[in-house]
Amino acid sequence: MNSEEFFKKIVSHAKEYGFIYPSSDLYDGLAAVYDYGPNGVELKNNIKQYWWRSMTQMHENIVGVDSAIFMHPKIWKASGHVDAFNDPLIDNKDSKKRYRADVLIEDHIAKIEEKINKEITKAKKRFGDSFNEEQFLATSERVKGYKQQMEDIHQRFADLMNANDLAGLKSLIEELGIVCPISGTRNWTDVRQFNLMFSTKMGSVSDDSDIIYLRPETAQGIFVNYLNVQKTNRMKIPFGIAQIGKAFRNEIVARQFIFRMREFEQMEMEFFCRPGTEMEWFNYWKEERMNWHLALGIPKEKYRYHDHEKLAHYANAATDIEFDFPFGFKELEGIHSRTDFDLKRHQEFSGRKIQYFDAELNESYTPYCVETSIGLDRTFLAVFSHAFNEETLQDGSTRIVLNLPKQLAPYKVSVLPLVNKDGLPEMAHGIFNDLKFNMRAHYEEKDTIGKRYRRQDAIGTPYCITVDNDSLKDNSVTIRLRDTMQQERVSVDNIKSYIAAH
Ligand code: ATP
Repeated sequence: MNSEEFFKKIVSHAKEYGFIYPSSDLYDGLAAVYDYGPNGVELKNNIKQYWWRSMTQMHENIVGVDSAIFMHPKIWKASGHVDAFNDPLIDNKDSKKRYRADVLIEDHIAKIEEKINKEITKAKKRFGDSFNEEQFLATSERVKGYKQQMEDIHQRFADLMNANDLAGLKSLIEELGIVCPISGTRNWTDVRQFNLMFSTKMGSVSDDSDIIYLRPETAQGIFVNYLNVQKTNRMKIPFGIAQIGKAFRNEIVARQFIFRMREFEQMEMEFFCRPGTEMEWFNYWKEERMNWHLALGIPKEKYRYHDHEKLAHYANAATDIEFDFPFGFKELEGIHSRTDFDLKRHQEFSGRKIQYFDAELNESYTPYCVETSIGLDRTFLAVFSHAFNEETLQDGSTRIVLNLPKQLAPYKVSVLPLVNKDGLPEMAHGIFNDLKFNMRAHYEEKDTIGKRYRRQDAIGTPYCITVDNDSLKDNSVTIRLRDTMQQERVSVDNIKSYIAAH
């Protein structure tokens, strides 16, 4: 199965099993907007909770906020979003399709990287056990040539983006011979800037002054609450403020399912520190965030850092944590050292003093800030796509199983009476009612037990508890494990401790 087919399978599985539906499905959907179904919302909430707890509960110096989506329009002037939150777009005149110029170039670079990977695969076959990848990469003339090409394009691309040179970007696209994937032609328009913020009006008078934006990031809701939080919670630097919430971007090219949406959720944390210590904290959070991902049990080969060459106007260091999605390595989380840019700008635009008095140093300053910003929906896609497995069993049949990290699974346990009679549903309900106070439990009595197991596998439930006729006599049940399909007889009194231990 190639990666495109695999991706299609994931998308249809997400719909069929109540994880994600196209938004407004009844009306044939709305581009790049999605709804989460009953199983999806549980998985999403569990991811949120995992992030929230690891940020706030596990760090004594991090607190949370939940700021409004609507904010004063001046905030987006101050943050730079009104003037600079643009993507360079380009149209193909033949297919009439619109692309992001930067993405076309990045995809071109990714294709060269694919060629390197193909060379590695070929060499692995040729050399067998004696293959040394590091040595091969360092000595193969062809690979070295590809690497040089990648670096040259990267550098030129970064220079053009930094200089906001739109004509230069178009020339680079032409020079690299990049064609439209639909029409196959190089008939491109000029590159233009496009602001990604959605706007609407507030109140009943329609003049320019009441234009209001849907926030394109949650971070500004943190910055404008810095003074409130620092004072009300008596926070001492260094400290962090975390927030989870919706963000909106009028993305030019909205493809790839929930990877790039027009309405999505972010989990952001702004960590305020002494000026001059920001690189220390940047490195700290870079490592800490990677550890958070790895703690989910997904192999480390699926993640990599990507340091930025083009820094946003506010940053003095930036890196992405990329994940190996079904369509290749792409950004999952950004870690940015944002200096004192945001607080200084809000000070300037609001006319309010935003300073911290550092008693240890006996001086006041504008704090520096390191941000960690992760997309909730992208994390969902990462976890979901990695968990999706189509297994061939010993008897030749296949099963689809979501090997989700147990703490994230929509349901921890499903309680299943073997048959819908003889007092089994009553006993199973009793077990369900006892478990529901400790964990998200599920109950089902329809269909054969085999079919019910398969359905629980497909939504990633780690434990199935079956109540059969013997259960009535010996007060024990069969617990079946999702990943190994092993079954064990366990006394009803020991169900919770069994689950805790497995
Ligand atoms: P990209 O380059 O992919 O557009 P970005 O660099 O603009 O992303 P940031 O502004 O750093 O993204 O936002 C932080 C995080 O928010 C991203 O790492 C990503 O996980 C998430 N995110 C950003 N845009 C979207 C979107 N349109 N849909 C879903 N998640 C998004």
